[in-house]
Amino acid sequence: MSQDRNPTPAPRQEGGYTDRDERAMLDVIGRWVERDVKPHVMRMERDDIYPHAFVEQMKEFGLFGATISERYGGLGLRAATYARIVSLISEQWMSLTGIFNSHLMMATIVEKYGTDAQREYWLPKFVTGEIRGGLALTEPDAGTDLQGIRTRAVASGDGYRIDGTKTWISNGIEGGAVALLVKTDPDASPPRRGMSMFIAPKADPDTGKPHPGFRTGRKLEKLGYHGIDSAELVFENYQLDAERHLVGGEPGKGFYMAVGGLELGRINVAARSVGIARRALDEATAYAQTRKTFGKPIAEHQAIQLKLGEMATRTRAAELLTEDAARAYDAGERCDMEAGMAKYFASESALTNATEAMRIHGGYGYSREYPVERLYREAPLMCIGEGTNEMQRILIARQFVQRNPV
Ligand SMILES: Cc1cc2nc3c(=O)[nH]c(=O)nc-3n(C[C@H](O)[C@H](O)[C@H](O)COP(=O)(O)OP(=O)(O)OC[C@H]3O[C@@H](n4cnc5c(N)ncnc54)[C@H](O)[C@@H]3O)c2cc1C
Repeated sequence: MSQDRNPTPAPRQEGGYTDRDERAMLDVIGRWVERDVKPHVMRMERDDIYPHAFVEQMKEFGLFGATISERYGGLGLRAATYARIVSLISEQWMSLTGIFNSHLMMATIVEKYGTDAQREYWLPKFVTGEIRGGLALTEPDAGTDLQGIRTRAVASGDGYRIDGTKTWISNGIEGGAVALLVKTDPDASPPRRGMSMFIAPKADPDTGKPHPGFRTGRKLEKLGYHGIDSAELVFENYQLDAERHLVGGEPGKGFYMAVGGLELGRINVAARSVGIARRALDEATAYAQTRKTFGKPIAEHQAIQLKLGEMATRTRAAELLTEDAARAYDAGERCDMEAGMAKYFASESALTNATEAMRIHGGYGYSREYPVERLYREAPLMCIGEGTNEMQRILIARQFVQRNPV
């Protein structure tokens, strides 16, 4: 049974920021999104343009090291502060947060489960954004059922040879590395015991020499979440040494690392959802006060008031669930259920609020000239990513029963 246990994570470093520091940080980022991001979102989103200039600015803010400990050069932010930043940026353009969130999930895996030498080597490079990346779990035939993946790592020399295909990988084209989930023992029972995690760079960070076995496949077309790249990744005879690349230095722990990284990932999706829900509420509230029908603003019609009342309540509840999960994460408590509840409720709230905002806008809600149309296309992803909401409810129920035995 010992193999079935989660590998012991390294203790989390505290950032030591005061409330005032946090407010200052939120102020600076809030001004940036309002002044520099907002005017360009409609065009860049419509044309699916990768936001290189915004990435440079996010590097300057330190967002690629937001949750990485200060000892590796990161900001060491608490999850609660991080979640507020993510919500704030998502109010303007949710896609931007995907660029550093997927990256930070890779970093979290190295920081929690990597060897000391791996932390020292990789984390400072992740902090600056010199190497940016993401998390490569999903395959064409396995998403929710992660234990069904087929990407294979076979021992070879002092490392492994990897073959397989991943899909839907955020930052797959623009990023330089991924945390790659593979099978090292395809006959293991249960299968999760035969899974391992590698840090897989496209090029050797020391020499810059590309790894011929790591190929970026096609960029995937999608409904929303434009700007950020989602791609297929193909590994063919891809050779990695174990010491630097096999996270934790031993095989068989990858499934638990993926699940451990998803806690922060779910808090992040909840925070992004809060941003979308809030923006939909704000747009609908403003529009309802200016659009008149039958001689008065539609905000004075009871049918619209019922919608706005529900949207505002939903948004607040989503914020509070997200804060609750982040607080538990910061306290080092087990928070898979709390993160799941926040992710589930906030993402459904984003989707419902986006739909309601569109309805409140009438025909204009269907126009590409109003932001609610974009929110309507962005929101459904929140119900799919980091564990679908179908699975989320099943996991919440299992946890709830486990915590309340008769
Ligand atoms: C834009 C975008 C970005 C993404 N980014 C990444 C990324 O960076 N890295 C990455 O690894 N993946 C990424 N993904 C993949 C995403 O995580 C998966 O799509 C998701 O996990 C669902 O997997 P699937 O698509 O294979 O659906 P499936 O697993 O095939 O599920 C299909 C349906 O069946 C339901 N279902 C499945 N099993 C059960 C069950 N046991 N009980 C009840 N219902 C069930 C699901 O909820 C869903 O409704 C991304 C996806 C998108 C669309």
